[in-house]
Amino acid sequence: MTAPLKVKLKPGDTIGILGGGQLGRMLAMAAARLGLRCHVFSPDPDSPAFDVVLNATCAEYADVEALELFANDVDVITYEFENVPSAAAMVLGARRPVLPDRKILETTQDRLAEKDFVKRLGIGTADYADVSSAASLWAAISRIGLPAVLKTRRFGYDGKGQAIIRAGDDPDRIWDDLGTKSAILEAFIPFQCEISVIAARSADGHVECFDVTENEHRDHILKISRAPANISDALASEARAVAEKIASALNYVGVLAVEMFVVQCEAGPKVLVNEIAPRVHNSGHWTLDGASISQFEQHIRAIAGWPLGKPVRHGPVTMTNLIGDDINDYEQWLTIPGATIHLYGKGAPRPGRKMGHVTQVSAREK
Ligand code: AMP
Repeated sequence: MTAPLKVKLKPGDTIGILGGGQLGRMLAMAAARLGLRCHVFSPDPDSPAFDVVLNATCAEYADVEALELFANDVDVITYEFENVPSAAAMVLGARRPVLPDRKILETTQDRLAEKDFVKRLGIGTADYADVSSAASLWAAISRIGLPAVLKTRRFGYDGKGQAIIRAGDDPDRIWDDLGTKSAILEAFIPFQCEISVIAARSADGHVECFDVTENEHRDHILKISRAPANISDALASEARAVAEKIASALNYVGVLAVEMFVVQCEAGPKVLVNEIAPRVHNSGHWTLDGASISQFEQHIRAIAGWPLGKPVRHGPVTMTNLIGDDINDYEQWLTIPGATIHLYGKGAPRPGRKMGHVTQVSAREK
């Protein structure tokens, strides 16, 4: 990967954020605390991030004129989602530094390219195969075995664009239902638990990782994160080393999340990388209230060319997502001692929609 552009912002400078969801909103709030302004670009007029910034552009990512005006108004550009269209990233990159580097998106937008990249670094992943037709799916199944997980190469999230194939299922029907020509088949991993590492890397190559987080999903959507993860110190060090290796190999600037499975092997537990998210991540929301510095501030510092903080966790932390109708309980959460509530200001709750989260920090280590 090419060397990242040198950026050095001063208080009062403006950061451009592509995407207006809750991640953009929390990035803008962290930037404001550091005296930096944000300009949010999003095609959605109801973007929650618009509520917390003075400058907002509501336009499509294909609107070159709007992109150019946006770029002219900011000093550096970042993004809160990984599916930034490459044409938009190119228009912006010609005018202002885009951090993390837009070329990283080519790796992380495609599950096959991402897995190949991780494997080249000598890091473990589930066994996988490229699938582009029903015939290649049958070939992949005969090599990898069942159960297995079929995933679209692009645009999958929160369990969308994926299907488990078990013995006795009809792979031809599952292939037709997935409705794509480019997918990967992964061995199904009987994991002990799922963990993630949120890592920040500065342009000078310094990396700071937050404590490893343990993640519990419901219906494929993150429901609860706990830090620290209930794993040995040795495994936690291994997980952090994996994230650091990935961030360094990408010559990354900003915060990234590496999701991993913990599996039991004969030699003891080890980690397998499931996915890289080139952005701040839901499993790092606990850092807002549970650590001396949040993932959002780390990201802003990194892209501003400012020194990263050394995060100190305040105690054992639990983060609970308020998904869909969970938001209706917000008044109850407000009465719970020690709970810190974050509502994203979104409109109507829909099933699966992330509406807010609650953090609870215990006073002392268990
Ligand atoms: P992903 O979209 O790849 O992050 O997958 C969403 C969730 O599906 C993960 O957090 C796991 O709970 C589950 N999952 C994905 N891939 C596998 C796999 N190869 N084996 C077992 N579970 C998986």
